[in-house]
Amino acid sequence: MSISHSDTLKALIDEYVPDLVATRRDLHEHPELAFEEVRTSGIVARRLNALGMEVQTGVARTGVVGLLRGGATRPGAKTIAIRADMDALPIDEMNNVEYRSQIEGKMHACGHDGHTAILLTVADVLSKRRAELAGNVQFIFQPAEEDIGGAKPMVEQGAVKGVDAIIGLHLISDIPFGRVGVRAGEIFASADDYMLTVTGRGGHAASPHEAIDPIVITAHIITALQTLISRETSPFQPSIITIGEIKAGTTFNIIPEKALMRGTVRTFSSIHRTYLMRRIAEVASGIASALGGSCELAWQPGGCPPCHNDPAVTAVVRQAVVATVGEQMLDEDESIMSTGADDMSEFLQAVPGCYFVVGTRNEAKGTHYQHHHPRFNIDEEALPIGVEVLARAAIAYLS
Ligand SMILES: [Zn+2]
Ligand SMILES: [Zn+2]
Repeated sequence: MSISHSDTLKALIDEYVPDLVATRRDLHEHPELAFEEVRTSGIVARRLNALGMEVQTGVARTGVVGLLRGGATRPGAKTIAIRADMDALPIDEMNNVEYRSQIEGKMHACGHDGHTAILLTVADVLSKRRAELAGNVQFIFQPAEEDIGGAKPMVEQGAVKGVDAIIGLHLISDIPFGRVGVRAGEIFASADDYMLTVTGRGGHAASPHEAIDPIVITAHIITALQTLISRETSPFQPSIITIGEIKAGTTFNIIPEKALMRGTVRTFSSIHRTYLMRRIAEVASGIASALGGSCELAWQPGGCPPCHNDPAVTAVVRQAVVATVGEQMLDEDESIMSTGADDMSEFLQAVPGCYFVVGTRNEAKGTHYQHHHPRFNIDEEALPIGVEVLARAAIAYLS
């Protein structure tokens, strides 16, 4: 791509900003939960069809994939995919804005409305530039990022078949507006949720010797699981084991039959992930049986690996960020990593890619609330930044 084209890209994107903001606000007013993105995916499919793309709908139920064939492709030309997620959350919105969620109990509180609007605008912009594209661009609109995991079935149903690289972004309220975070290697953690069921033998609280107390067993398991972090994983590779829920017993003078625990494991490497999943099972059942009881471990479906960014694709995105916001607005250190998870990792395991973060935090506009907070909102001026980085990176990758 020549420098003159680079310079005109910003001006081209500027023309789309009113539509970009209107699209985001329309999606914000009509949030849809995981695998229910019928209205959203309908809008996406209509717009991609209107641009003359080859469009597949119903991928992983409500996902949409559109292929834009470049006008300057030669045999062996590459294909880059760009991914956005579309789902909202079961939260009542507390923001007092004119585009407030119209659906009680549902809200775009993670910025996925922004991601979808950004990617639709990238589709507009790159379609305008189609004649110059030296390869193809695959637009992936994913359902169900929150909670259930729509990425894995999209990969299984061929969303990245024939794709050479994939990029995507998350708008982030932890990072100030104007800044963009890009980093090779791990950026988001793995997430696997589990339930432990400890079985003892119920009885009278005054006769513990006649019973097997699952609450005491549970206490030992909790302590032992934390030693997996402090004694068995590298201090240079952070991992987390949390137990967020315990249920046992009905009153003070009964030893219950069972105790339940639910928790989550987060890691930044697939090796640590596999290791901790195995050791949690061994330690929990070993302790339970040593103390006369038993313990069953069930992993919840929908766990995902860590997001690993490929160095070569990340270098392309980094250059696009520098061209968009300048090097002084680029963050590359560990501060942009998150112990949260994102199932973009399923795409990144299938093809090399880069997932990066675009800052939306602006106290003056009240966009400083955490993700999933009922007052979460984004500084909409970050939207064209996302469009420009994605468009520049795609053009550069294919050149
Ligand atoms: Zn979220
Ligand atoms: Zn999200």
